[in-house]
Amino acid sequence: MKQDSLLHIENLSVSYGPIQALNEVSLQVRRGEVLALLGANGAGKTTLLQTISGLLKPTNGRIQYNNEDITGIEAEQIVSKHLIHVPEHRQVFGTLSVMDNLHLGTFHHHRKTGAKEIQDDIEKIFGLFPILKERQKQLAGTLSGGQQQMLAIARAMMSKPELLLLDEPSLGLAPIIVREVLQLVKQLRDDFGTTVLLIEQNVVASLKIADRAYVISHGEIVKEGPALELLNDNEVKEAYLGHNVG
Ligand code: ATP
Repeated sequence: MKQDSLLHIENLSVSYGPIQALNEVSLQVRRGEVLALLGANGAGKTTLLQTISGLLKPTNGRIQYNNEDITGIEAEQIVSKHLIHVPEHRQVFGTLSVMDNLHLGTFHHHRKTGAKEIQDDIEKIFGLFPILKERQKQLAGTLSGGQQQMLAIARAMMSKPELLLLDEPSLGLAPIIVREVLQLVKQLRDDFGTTVLLIEQNVVASLKIADRAYVISHGEIVKEGPALELLNDNEVKEAYLGHNVG
């Protein structure tokens, strides 16, 4: 395993009964980078994130995180290692306030964290998401789609992720909000040092904020490289660009 590699996946295969969703996937996330995982609907992106976070068990292969083999261990144990997954469809608690949602993000380490430290963390996060500070008393269900997405990410940040897995944070958002959310993702890395593995269908917008990217197709990695290189790659352009937010 390379020195700067935070997550190292080797030959990972995952099946849903007879359907093989991932076939011998190998991938590395380097410490401190934003890595984009690109691919069409059904390519296997969500399956990969769910397997990393312990929700699905692989049939083959190995996942190493921080030099530790975490293949097949339970999701709750993985969360406690500060490997945090924000699933698709921004699952905030709609009937709770913004502030209560943020407090829930501390759930996994609340016994070790004092009230003062939690408040300090919230203030730091409000620095990045000022709209959430303004709306801290508002019920999460009454926020706009973009604000709910920001809250889902902010709540994950309360768990102090070392590696953040983001599954389509821009799903269903207007183009201008997509850019805003993706800029925030980049800022998480810049301001908090969080390493990010980002799934996106907005190929251009995500390549603009990512350091590197992998392209997955039918459960297999078909391309990888620096984000700028992929942005200018003819095959990637033909397959994915054109109908995307720039
Ligand atoms: P999307 O962008 O649509 O979420 P994806 O790249 O995340 O797509 P996955 O959701 O990982 O793709 O799906 C990979 C493959 O596994 C697809 O063929 C899909 O139909 C299949 N699949 C996903 N979830 C299940 C399931 N619960 N049961 C059976 N097959 C599934």
